[in-house]
Amino acid sequence: MINYSDTHKAIQSWYLAHGRVDLPWRNTRDAYAIWLSEIMLQQTQVATVLARFYFPFLQRFPTLKVLADASEEEVLKAWEGLGYYSRARNLHKAAKMASPHLPCTVEGLLALPGIGRNTAHAVASFAFGLPVPVMEANVKRVLHRVFARERMRDAELWDAAEVLLDREDPFTHNQAMMDIGNYVCTSKQPKCLVCPLSAICEGKAAWERYPARKEKKVTPLRERIILVPVTPDGRYWLSPRETKLLGGLYGFPEFAKGEAITWKGQEVQALSLIPLGGVTWTYSHFKLQGEVYLLPVEPQGENSWYTREDITQLPLAGVDLKIVEMLPHDSALARKPSR
Ligand code: SF4
Repeated sequence: MINYSDTHKAIQSWYLAHGRVDLPWRNTRDAYAIWLSEIMLQQTQVATVLARFYFPFLQRFPTLKVLADASEEEVLKAWEGLGYYSRARNLHKAAKMASPHLPCTVEGLLALPGIGRNTAHAVASFAFGLPVPVMEANVKRVLHRVFARERMRDAELWDAAEVLLDREDPFTHNQAMMDIGNYVCTSKQPKCLVCPLSAICEGKAAWERYPARKEKKVTPLRERIILVPVTPDGRYWLSPRETKLLGGLYGFPEFAKGEAITWKGQEVQALSLIPLGGVTWTYSHFKLQGEVYLLPVEPQGENSWYTREDITQLPLAGVDLKIVEMLPHDSALARKPSR
């Protein structure tokens, strides 16, 4: 078995000199704050999380208990703009299950919604110092190259990460591996000369082969008609979505292009619609292209009517924030109700 102790020392030295040691979630042992950063960073860049989301969220929900006691709507509102809202819903559910403290074992963490092996290992090693590796996209690339492998299955990647792990200092090792992947072993032009893994790296002479490139998938397009019901006095109709993707976030009625458009049980006449423009939004597995129309109507006796100002207090998905920007500032456009 190879002795990696020199490599561990090289990784530690590199991290102290060049790693992002200043990141706030690397300067705390608060498992809640670390877990929050891990969830936010799953699909969002460090710079965005730092600039707009991490601190405001912690200020609003400073502890696991405060988060657990909040409503889902409050949590979704604080998550607005970050996307991938199932992360926020699971964060909230997990907080309710674990409050007042997150579990300090990998098994305990894995039992919570929204926590997979990588997140569990990250929290376990960063907050509790447990000797378990992390596995995000940058680490995967480094492992493919260090072990000169074109394709590794998940189980093989975890095995390789375990082999390489510095069990004496998993915190530094894991943080360093992510940074090395991000700044040194980049997908193009890796800086092998200054890489702390260079001495053991089997793939550096032909790094471009590892990992083998995947064929790019074509993103499917979903074309939608989006209606914005509006009353003559400028109130709009929205309701919480019930879809898996955007559940809990408020949205306008949406229809597949070509299907009959009905609202409140009545067919909508195309001539009654007022075009507002087009919106596009790219999700992880499809692209939405929507035509947005105002639908002038008489107000009906229910609570789903909101002024433009009221709408800003509701949790909205990115695409709906764009639609709100398109709404007229007065109700002049909507003066002629169709029914
Ligand atoms: S030596 Fe080069 S290819 Fe190998 S891990 Fe370091 S940067 Fe990547």
